[in-house]
Amino acid sequence: MEGRAQRRRQIRRDVPAGTVRLFFALWPEAGAQRALGALAQDLKRECGGRAVPRHNVHLTLIFLGNVERTRIPRLEALAAGIRGARFDLAVNCVEFWPHNRITWAGTRHCPEALRELVARLGQGLAAEGFRVDGRPYVPHITLLRNARRPTVTAAPPVINWPVTGFALVESAQRERGRVYEVVRDWPLTA
Ligand code: ATP
Ligand code: MG
Repeated sequence: MEGRAQRRRQIRRDVPAGTVRLFFALWPEAGAQRALGALAQDLKRECGGRAVPRHNVHLTLIFLGNVERTRIPRLEALAAGIRGARFDLAVNCVEFWPHNRITWAGTRHCPEALRELVARLGQGLAAEGFRVDGRPYVPHITLLRNARRPTVTAAPPVINWPVTGFALVESAQRERGRVYEVVRDWPLTA
């Protein structure tokens, strides 16, 4: 019990009292998680920087930032009402953003079902008064932070990520680094 109370105190350290840092995301199943974790390690050897550990790999749908804890049930109700189709995400490219030195994996063709999911979530959130990013959605899976050089990998990755649901995730700063915890997840329809 004491461990849990201590954990809660650590969670709150990086956010204003009574709030949590949240985002909606796709969380990979075991196969895609393993492949993306291995890709992060390969890229680290090539580009330096810090590899995202396998258990932290995800694809952000919408970043919410600090949200009052009391609003979580509204977010959950909203997400439960979202209808979306399952899809396969083909992870087939690696890119580097010089402005933040992030190396990420993505897809050359964003599936329509992913676009729709993000759009529906965004509309629902806006209707509930949440502030959402209006910039065009670029699906990116962060794999390296503080990368020292862009990737020059000749062969693009070939990773299939079967997407069967989406999640509300808490992002917490702990002594051992940033930790993401799935608050709740919802299925997409077959
Ligand atoms: P840190 O900020 O400590 O380096 P982080 O970026 O992984 O760690 P968060 O800032 O909590 O953790 O972000 C959680 C997820 O949301 C990450 O995938 C991050 O890329 C994404 N994200 C964060 N801020 C934004 C934003 N303004 N717009 C879109 N996505 C964002
Ligand atoms: Mg961040």
